[in-house]
Amino acid sequence: MVVMSTRGKIEISTELLRTLHRIHRQLTDLRSQIARGPRQIQAGETMVAKADADRQAAHDKLQKAKIASDEKQLQLQSRELNIEELKVKLNVAASNREFALLKEQIAADEQASSVLSDEILEGLERMDLLEKSLADAQEELERQQTEQAQRVSDVQQKLKTLHSERERVEAELEVSEQQIPAVIKSEYKRIAAAKGEDALAPTEADSCGGCNQTLTTQVMSTLHLSQLVRCPNCNAFLYLPEDRRVR
Ligand SMILES: [Zn+2]
Repeated sequence: MVVMSTRGKIEISTELLRTLHRIHRQLTDLRSQIARGPRQIQAGETMVAKADADRQAAHDKLQKAKIASDEKQLQLQSRELNIEELKVKLNVAASNREFALLKEQIAADEQASSVLSDEILEGLERMDLLEKSLADAQEELERQQTEQAQRVSDVQQKLKTLHSERERVEAELEVSEQQIPAVIKSEYKRIAAAKGEDALAPTEADSCGGCNQTLTTQVMSTLHLSQLVRCPNCNAFLYLPEDRRVR
């Protein structure tokens, strides 16, 4: 177990370590809030795309129903034309037998036409419903687009604030870092760059607040003397929290 304080005693202000950690935590929080922005926009875009696909599907369904209905209308027209022709033939029937056959044929065709007419009516009713669905889908798409435009504007506004806040906190960090003893500065920089806020940890009931490693009495008393101690487990720069007084 290597405890740095046993190699060479480095005086470091507990207040400074607390401040550094607070700033690093703020930066972590700001960075995660900044990262959330594009994700919110992305999620909104997914919702718009879904609404657009739904609208397209409703549109396609209606188109298909229209085509089917048009085909049936044409069928009906040609059947009716056919019936008219049969009626003409009926008028000039050469025999009773031909007359009876034509009569039978006309009755059958009229029956078939009537079934087709019913189907066409049902189709028209269904098309009314499909038109309503399309209008709803269109409305939903417009609602999602409006919401997304608002969301993008809100997120951009928020990001602007967050970026300037991050700049302010980074400047604050730089000022505080100037107070770090030169002998450990580059080591601190390296760890901070790699671990962010986990580069520092308060003690919690004689344990490392970062990794929960129990700290020895020697480590604890060194901390009370405002000397630099690294956690033997996670390597964090340890410090006493606000409620622990420094001797
Ligand atoms: Zn630790």
